[in-house]
Amino acid sequence: MEEQLRKSDTLSVVGQLAAGIAHEIRNPMTALKGFIQLLQGSIGNGCEQYNMYFHVIMSELKRIESIITEFLVLAKPQAVHYERGDVAKIMQETVDLLSVQATMHNIQIEATYEQVPRIYCEPKQLKQVFINILKNAIEVMPNGGTITVSVQHVGDDIRIAIRDQGCGIPKDKIKKLGEPFYTTKERGTGLGLMVSYKIIEEHRGRIDVESEVGVGTTFYITLPINNDMR
Ligand code: ADP
Ligand code: MG
Repeated sequence: MEEQLRKSDTLSVVGQLAAGIAHEIRNPMTALKGFIQLLQGSIGNGCEQYNMYFHVIMSELKRIESIITEFLVLAKPQAVHYERGDVAKIMQETVDLLSVQATMHNIQIEATYEQVPRIYCEPKQLKQVFINILKNAIEVMPNGGTITVSVQHVGDDIRIAIRDQGCGIPKDKIKKLGEPFYTTKERGTGLGLMVSYKIIEEHRGRIDVESEVGVGTTFYITLPINNDMR
């Protein structure tokens, strides 16, 4: 409980600051990308070295862009629009969306969807959470394997489990999940889980993690069916 409170505090401060700045940075970024592409077309042609420079510039710009995009999810949508959504269907769409990427990494996603009651939610944001967690699962399985996904109706809750066969997370690191910028990846942003915790918290739900180093990790998302949002 204490842990959760502390996380929300950090989130609201980080969220307010970042969202404002992120909006401002996004437009100039788009212009930059466009003009660099034009430049590459006119002076990059045929010059290996320039092309290498352009490649680095574009990949760094894309990195900035992905950081901004993840931050922007924190900004409250202009009109918070909760609607009755089918969580199983949202998960199914997400799994379909990521199945190509999974197959490319020799990963099979085995999913079972129970019929679950519709709940008030922001379907786009829930999808973002599922994408973030599934992407992490794919990223920790470089040699392939199976990701198991389930959506179940348990009592007053919808319970979602996403299990991977990746490296696992040491016990003392589990509490760091969801902290801004906590990443163990060379090119990670350390924002995906922070955003996910925030969204699930707003849906009055919670995320629990079970992990064993060298065996794999399971993310459990619990969403109350009656969350008094509408
Ligand atoms: P990023 O993916 O950019 O690193 P995230 O917020 O998505 O940022 O994840 C933060 C960190 O949590 C990851 O860098 C990784 O160390 C750890 N993590 C998240 N999901 C998993 C997983 N399924 N297996 C092992 N470690 C994980
Ligand atoms: Mg991630």
